[in-house]
Amino acid sequence: MAKREFISKRAPIYRDVTDEQWHNWRWQLSNRINSVEEFEKVLPLTESERRALSAASLFRVDITPYFISLIDPDDPNDPIRKQVVPTAAEMVPFTSMMEDSLAEDRHSPVPGLVHRYPDRVLMLVTTQCASYCRYCTRSRIVGDPSATFSRAEFEMQIEYLKRTPQVRDVLLSGGDPLVLAPKILEEILSRLRDIEHIEIVRIGSRVPVFLPMRVTDELCNMLQKYHPLWLKIHVNHPNEISLELAQAADRLTRAGIPLGNQAVLLAGVNDNIHIQRQLVQDLVRIRVRPYYLYQCDLVEGAGHFRTPVGKGIEIMEGLRGHTSGYAVHQYIIDAPGGGGKIPVAPNYVLSMSDHKIILRNYEGYITTYEEPVDYLPSHAAKFVGEKRPEPGQSGLTGLLEGDQMFIKPEGFDELHDRGGIQHRLKDEKKWVPLGIGSGEEKQPTS
Ligand SMILES: *Cc1c(COP(=O)(O)O)cnc(C)c1O
Repeated sequence: MAKREFISKRAPIYRDVTDEQWHNWRWQLSNRINSVEEFEKVLPLTESERRALSAASLFRVDITPYFISLIDPDDPNDPIRKQVVPTAAEMVPFTSMMEDSLAEDRHSPVPGLVHRYPDRVLMLVTTQCASYCRYCTRSRIVGDPSATFSRAEFEMQIEYLKRTPQVRDVLLSGGDPLVLAPKILEEILSRLRDIEHIEIVRIGSRVPVFLPMRVTDELCNMLQKYHPLWLKIHVNHPNEISLELAQAADRLTRAGIPLGNQAVLLAGVNDNIHIQRQLVQDLVRIRVRPYYLYQCDLVEGAGHFRTPVGKGIEIMEGLRGHTSGYAVHQYIIDAPGGGGKIPVAPNYVLSMSDHKIILRNYEGYITTYEEPVDYLPSHAAKFVGEKRPEPGQSGLTGLLEGDQMFIKPEGFDELHDRGGIQHRLKDEKKWVPLGIGSGEEKQPTS
């Protein structure tokens, strides 16, 4: 089978635009499409799209001329069109829909900083994007220039990071950090680099996809001063992988920035094994490593994009083993209410005994793995860091490491006391497991 060719497209109305303008990111940004009149010049709108565009409280619409040119104007179901052109379905509420479904603002010590995991934070630096995805998980603030982060809030974010030494990884997002004025972006990066304990900085951006002309050599030269820097882009469908995106990815990669992709599983866009396989294989061709495939969040406006979780499992079944391991992303449900990312996958372990595990592969071949009878684990004392300042986050690893023996739901002990009295059989010492919680250090077994 011949390789798919990456091509350039330009909608007919842009034929008279000079190449210089077309490849100028400022021109692209100031000529974005957002009104019924402008849309009608590029593609005939459906009744539902026209209704949405006339609605009063619509999540912001803006599409770069470059990105809208990738749409087939004659196909009302075009997978790119669905991502950026609103329809009336956006206005339909659904069960469990929330404004902030990941409870980001609750996990936020200062405005724009979301500190959910022990060693890394999400840092929102703007509410603006080059174009707006209709299923945006952060639509509560994104698109609204008045909701953007102030200089004072940025200083609060930096102060928090300085006084929180367990943070070794900062993930810049928004909005889209790459639409910031280059000077401001550079200031953010250099202020982060001044903080000794921050090891890596990551940027989450859809600019290479919406506005690849923004990825200039000048920008790449600036970014590469702040290594180690990683960049995550957001491509959902093979049609988004144009010649321009391939070239932008090449420039970033040459600047030493490892590229990853986060996709969202979207009904009618990419909820299909064949589309997904093409997507991840084309991403690997432009040296972008598929990272996550997200289940669509329970966020306002995204109801019609949601698929059953089984669709995601089916897609993962169709990727692992069927294509390069490098091309296989992880399927993730970001926990509603704020638990963070949870991977979900098909089952490959069929059964186990005390010395054998039974597995199946992608073809349905069933095998047994005989386990060692003389296994001695390594002692990694040298790598055991200081105790975490927030011991509550050790989770199941904490159970396995023997830090604790139980994780109890809130109010568990009180409930099971049944309002009873303190009597002669109740002695707290009875429930302290030997060697756990007694203050003594664990001894390596040899
Ligand atoms: C996604 C996310 C991260 C990064 O998660 P990784 O699994 O390390 O990529 C960090 N903080 C928050 C709040 C996030 O939502």
